[in-house]
Order: sequence, then C-alpha cells, then structure tokens
Amino acid sequence: MNEKNFSNHIEPGYIKISDNFWNGKLELVRKEVIPYQYEALHDRVPGAEKSYCIENFLKAGEVIKKIKEGKSVPSYPVDKWVYNETNCDKNAFHGWVFQDSDVYKWLEGVAYLLMAYADDNLQKQAEEVIDIICAAQMDNGYLDTLYIINNRDEIFSNLKDHHELYCFGHLAEAATAFYKATGKRKLLDAALKFADLICDTFGENKIKGYPGHEIAEMALVKLFDLTGKKDYLKTALFFINERGKKPYYYDMVLGRETKEDNYHYNQAHKEPRKQTEAVGHAVRAVYLFSAMADIAKRTGDEELYTACLKLFDNIENKKMYITGGIGATVDGEAFSFNYDLPNDLAYSETCASIGLIFFAMRMLEISPDAHFADVIERALYNTVLSSMAEDGKAFFYVNPLEVLPEASHKDSRKYHVKPVRQKWFSCACCPPNLARLITSVGTYCLSENNDMIFIHQYIGGRFTAKNAQVKIESDYLSSGKVKIEINSQKKTGLALRVPSWCKNFSFSKEYKIKNGYAVFEICGSVTVEAIFEIKPKLIKCSNKVRENIGKAAVSYGPFIYCLEEADNGKNLHLLSINKNTDFEIKDGFITADGYKEAESNSVGLYSDYNIDKKDPVKLHFVPYYTWGNRGENEMEVYIRVKE
Ligand SMILES: [Zn+2]
Repeated sequence: MNEKNFSNHIEPGYIKISDNFWNGKLELVRKEVIPYQYEALHDRVPGAEKSYCIENFLKAGEVIKKIKEGKSVPSYPVDKWVYNETNCDKNAFHGWVFQDSDVYKWLEGVAYLLMAYADDNLQKQAEEVIDIICAAQMDNGYLDTLYIINNRDEIFSNLKDHHELYCFGHLAEAATAFYKATGKRKLLDAALKFADLICDTFGENKIKGYPGHEIAEMALVKLFDLTGKKDYLKTALFFINERGKKPYYYDMVLGRETKEDNYHYNQAHKEPRKQTEAVGHAVRAVYLFSAMADIAKRTGDEELYTACLKLFDNIENKKMYITGGIGATVDGEAFSFNYDLPNDLAYSETCASIGLIFFAMRMLEISPDAHFADVIERALYNTVLSSMAEDGKAFFYVNPLEVLPEASHKDSRKYHVKPVRQKWFSCACCPPNLARLITSVGTYCLSENNDMIFIHQYIGGRFTAKNAQVKIESDYLSSGKVKIEINSQKKTGLALRVPSWCKNFSFSKEYKIKNGYAVFEICGSVTVEAIFEIKPKLIKCSNKVRENIGKAAVSYGPFIYCLEEADNGKNLHLLSINKNTDFEIKDGFITADGYKEAESNSVGLYSDYNIDKKDPVKLHFVPYYTWGNRGENEMEVYIRVKE
C-alpha cells in the first residue's frame, strides 16, 4: 500500500454526464424512479405494498412533540423484524425495522440529481421531507423511528437484529450528499448530532457493541472526511475492531455462549482483519469490507488492507456470478461456499452488487488495478441495471440467471426468484439504493492522485479533476470507440483502463501498460483516442462451478446476454449453441446458430439411451439487464454448447 499515491474519485458536483446510454438511465431515474419512490414512501402508489416510511417519521415527530409538551407517551413492543396492521397497534411503528433508511436513500439520490440539474420543485419536496425527519429527532440526537415511537427506554438494546446504526448510516450518507448538493445544513446537522451521540455511546469504557448491519462505519468515514472530526474515524475503527471479538458482544447481551457459525450472517464470527472468506449476508459483508478499505486508506492500516485484498479476491474468483451478482443463497441472503453459484436458486440481491461496486471503487482508490474496475463494470451493466424495469416503475430485488416461472410459483425454494419485476416491496432496500447508485454513476469513472488521472469507466461527460479538465466522448458500448480530451495545467499521467473482455485494442498515442491500464504522459491539452474491439463471444465458467459444465454465456463488451422465451419459445433448456457460430447483432439482439432438442416422446420418464434429435434453430439473445420486460417468461444466461 503506497500511502502517498492514493487516488480519490471525482465528487459528483464536478461531473456532468453526457452519454447516449447513461443519459437515458439518468432521465429515467429523474423522471420516473425518484417521483415514483416519493409517492411510494408516502404510500400513495395504488396496488403497491405499503412503505410506512413518511408515516413513521410523522408519528415519531408527534411523540417528540408530546414529550416536549410534558405529555405522556405510550410504549409498544420492539420485538419484531416487521410490524404491520395485524401484529401491532395502529399507533405503533409500522414496516421493517430498517424502514427509515428508504427515505434517506431517496434523499441521497435526489441530492445527486440536484448536483446535475437545478430543480426547485424537487429540492422543495426534499426539504419538506427533511423537515419531517428532523422533527422526529430526539434532543440528544437519537433518530430512529422504531424506538422513538415504540420504546425510548430500549434504544441500542438489540444491535444485532435492529437497525438503528444502519439507519444512522444512511442518514449520514444522505445528509452529506444533500449538503454538498445544496449547501443546506439542516439534515447534516441532524446527522452530526446523531453521530456525536453514537461516538459518546460506543467505544472503550462505553458500550462495546457494533452494528448488526454494517454501513455506519462507511458513513462515519464520510462525516470524518467532511468535518475532519477524528472521533468519527475512531468510532468507525472501533466498530471494526470490536466485531468478532470473543466473547461475542451479542452473546453477552443475550447471556449465552455460542459458536462462530451463529455470527457468519453478520460477519461477526471473527475479527474482520482476520477474515479471508466472504461469508454471511452479502450486502452486510460488502458494506463492512468497503468500510475496512475506507479506514485502511485513511490510517495506513496494512493489516486491514491485506484482509480487504483477500476478501475481494475470494469474491471475485470464487463467489461472483458472471453478471456481477453476489450472494448465491436465499438462506440468509448470503454468500454460499466457494464455487457454489446456482443459476436458478441465485439470490444475487441488487443491493449486494451495489455494495460490491462500493468495495471495488475503494480498492481502486488505494491501488489502481484494472480488475477492480472490471468488477464494477460487470456488476453495473448487468445485475444493477437489470433490477430496474424499462419504464423505471418496477424492480428486481433478486437477480437470478435462470428463471422458469412455474418454479417461481410452485417451488417454495424459488419463491424469492420473481419472473417479473415488482412495483414496490415492503422491504424496499433495492430500488432507492439503485437510484442513488445511478445518479452518482459518474463518481465511478475517474480518480486522481498527485501524478495520474485514472479513467476506470468510459462514460461520456465532463469531469473537473483537481489537476485537469477531462472530457470523455464515448461510443464504448456500441463501437468500442472512446475519445478523451484532457487539459492539464501540469505534466501528469493519464491511465486508461483496458477492459478485461477486450483482447484487441489500439490508442492514438504511445503508451505503456501498467496494472491493466494504458499509461500516457500528458502535458497541456491532449486528445487520446482509443478503440476497444467489441464483439459477441462465448464465455466459459470455471469447471469448479458444477452448474455450468458444458455451458457458455454470450457476452458483448461489458454486457452479458441471455435467452428469453419471448424470442426463443418455451423450454429454453432444450436449446444449445453451436460452438463455432457466427454472431449477428441487430436491433438489440445477438443472433447465433443453435439447435433445439426434440422433446422426449416416450410416455414414461425412462427409456434406453439414445441421442435425441436436434433441429437447427436461430437463437436470439438480449442483454441480461433488459430481461423480464415483456411479461412472465423463461430466461437463461448459460446455454449448453454443442461441440
Ligand atoms: Zn436490497
């Protein structure tokens, strides 16, 4: 770890995206997703599951008002994960224990939009929501509507299962973004007050607990970066160092003694700096690892950084789907064992891929190596984009690689695999997380250190770095052509990522390859043009993944493609692709030569072995991120290869 040479991403306020592909996505988020989510948070979307988000903040605001007026306030139990009309009082908290975080994620997305587009109406909506949030904050800074509404005496009593510190994390991230976007401090002051309470509550000679669902660690680092207050960094590090220490904090609270297995789910089975395998709830895991990288970068903690490298390697090379999805099992929404990547049972939560992007970007900033940026690209263009419908009004939470609608309806092991996107979830972590990721997508494109500008993702736009102005014109996703205009006041290096999917590439200037980047010397105003040869191809999965033996997936640049019933008929499992096929690209489809096996015509299940008749067919593949936009149908990423 070369501490002097860390790079930093470009802040969203210094980025103006201008890109054929991404402008469409940003407009969708701006015009559809954000307004839709605003309505959903207010429970005004007909037919969608209720969120209770704003309702809870209003209820908590009433509680605070009554307390200030010296009136008595009732208490309700805080003993569940989810509270609804049937299991709790109508005046109590409703929704999941982490419900507050949805509104914070919405606000963070709004903040990034406001950095790019002045929108008085949207800002006014956000400020009204902020007023509602801040009215619910307790005098000491505490802010979590479950405990404020239901029972103030039990605050921080169940860190393992409840999400007060998680909600704080999202509050702090939203507040930081909103302050940067508008200069308005109200939400930031609320977040800082809560952060101060957390620093006063947790630490040596204080409560030695840590969040059950990580993110507070990352958020505290953001507040440290913004304010320079060392307590925030110290508390973030404290949370990391306490996690996994024996006897387990969670056991001590519960008065029991358990084995490591109990805490894989929370990555609390052993101390993070001793962890080498990504286990447990996938979103929690990558949020933890992101914070470890954050802290390693700011403190020069080599041990923490080494753990990050091992954990990243474990995910990238043993636990990641070809779509950049992670978390193979629904059981605990978790990582499975190495090389266990079932296509049809995949969990692959949208939020987990978003968290993987966070982790990879932090690793890039510590030490730029193209494979981190390749992982960002894989997750971004496949799992993350797949989660949103073409109209921005429905979302996938789970992102499988193979879907048979009948199985999703009839097999309880696959109930989590939805054949079509849903409008809104009561547990709606993914849609607002997606909105904040897409609205900040430019921050994953560039980073800079003292002597180098790194371009990690070829998204068109203008980027104002500290040492240079950069303009990217990108046709990367279609022709593979990219033009970079850079204007640097001083002599600097320019490093352009060579994507791992590209074997033939050329640049208009002389370069040297280093860590997967083509490196140029730049001074003054310079233009570099790049051509990355982009063509469809078959991708093989390691045969250590038993699922995919004899199969291949089709890729085109960063996109993974899939087969859908809408284009190829039912029974996708009977299809195979010709190993030597030519590919044709037309109207968004990739067409290839393949075969369809005749359906068995024997009456029973079993007969003497013979080779089934195969008829030649044209196979039509669509980008994975577009699947499921034409009603319920079968889908498959991997197809058998006919040698
Ligand atoms: Zn999610």
